[in-house]
Amino acid sequence: MDMAHDCEHEHDARGLSGASLNGALLAADQRCSTAGERLTAPRKRVLELLLEAGQAVKAYDLIAAFGTDGAPAKPPTVYRALDFLSKQGFAHRIESLNAYVACRHSTGGGEADGHAAAFLICDCCGATREIEPAGLGEIQAIAGQAGYVLSGVTVEAHGLCGDCRA
Ligand SMILES: [Zn+2]
Ligand SMILES: [Zn+2]
Ligand SMILES: [Zn+2]
Repeated sequence: MDMAHDCEHEHDARGLSGASLNGALLAADQRCSTAGERLTAPRKRVLELLLEAGQAVKAYDLIAAFGTDGAPAKPPTVYRALDFLSKQGFAHRIESLNAYVACRHSTGGGEADGHAAAFLICDCCGATREIEPAGLGEIQAIAGQAGYVLSGVTVEAHGLCGDCRA
């Protein structure tokens, strides 16, 4: 599958494969059951593609790679699956890349339901690392003073990853 960015620098493989990929999908399936939701085949396939990629992927690349027989998906199928995965906390939308990435918590045990997230994004290779958002308490306090109740916080920090700086 084509990634959001191609660069000439050396990187370690980032995505999941084999037993770890299957384990993550199984864990996601169980988490859906616990929540009274269903990880339908299209939802599972889109999650699989995101986990395999291990970095942000644009929706049209997911649509193109969706069919295991090489046939593209119908776009609404993928968009509905992405909507579900985002709401359930399995994936995040990266606004500044117009792309989606698997939540680092989706591989096991983490909380669901669209938690606050922060991302370090490499503008050269597109590597996207989810980190614990810092200063969340301050943001919430400032929002409160301004009369806002926040439903979500996503921080997107851009720069160069260690591999691309080397
Ligand atoms: Zn997350
Ligand atoms: Zn990079
Ligand atoms: Zn690079």
